[in-house]
Amino acid sequence: MNSNNVKIQLPDNKKKLLLHSCCAPCSGDIMLRLKESGIDYTVYFYNPNIHPSKEYIFRKEENMLFAEKNNIPFIDADYNPKQWFNLTKGMEWNPERGTRCSACFDMRFTNTAEYAYKNNFDIFSSTLGISRWKNFDQINKSGIYAASKYKNISYWTFNWRKENGSKRMLDVSKHENFYMQEYCGCIYSLRDTNIWRERNNKPKIVIGKNYYSYSDKKTSDN
Ligand code: SF4
Repeated sequence: MNSNNVKIQLPDNKKKLLLHSCCAPCSGDIMLRLKESGIDYTVYFYNPNIHPSKEYIFRKEENMLFAEKNNIPFIDADYNPKQWFNLTKGMEWNPERGTRCSACFDMRFTNTAEYAYKNNFDIFSSTLGISRWKNFDQINKSGIYAASKYKNISYWTFNWRKENGSKRMLDVSKHENFYMQEYCGCIYSLRDTNIWRERNNKPKIVIGKNYYSYSDKKTSDN
């Protein structure tokens, strides 16, 4: 699928981008757009915040397959949820977009920045910012903070939502029949989404059930 975008460029004469990805739906259009723009980049999947592991595997494999299909290098980074749980101890009931989310972004971005530093990338960014559920400023703040720890590494604050980014993200997700996650990622967001659903007479989340299109077909294959 062609994303029909205007070409984009890395800022400040940077040459090699490490793109932290949270999932295939958020990264799909961004990946196509970077490729069509001729930007040298690699996808970096580091998300120890995603639980349970069944959900983690669904999200990662979908993203990996899409990268493979488009000949885009993909790094499957470590999955260390124990460290994530230690980091967020005491923040279990913090609301989304609060301090637990900042800690979660900091952990993921610091790991990404470190990988970039050790592997000759000079800039990194994240697909997290395309989601309308996220606070773009909060994400940028964590990215800039992580980059500041490593010499000659910067964080690209490009706003992926611009030029209909959110709509294109949906179009690519439907076209590719991506797995549709229904909560942010951690078990606390799963719990809180289910609490909201119960209050609003909606069924609980079933992991592995929904896809952006052809849901019946894919579900029966599982
Ligand atoms: S709600 Fe999302 S961003 Fe916030 S801590 Fe959980 S997984 Fe991380």
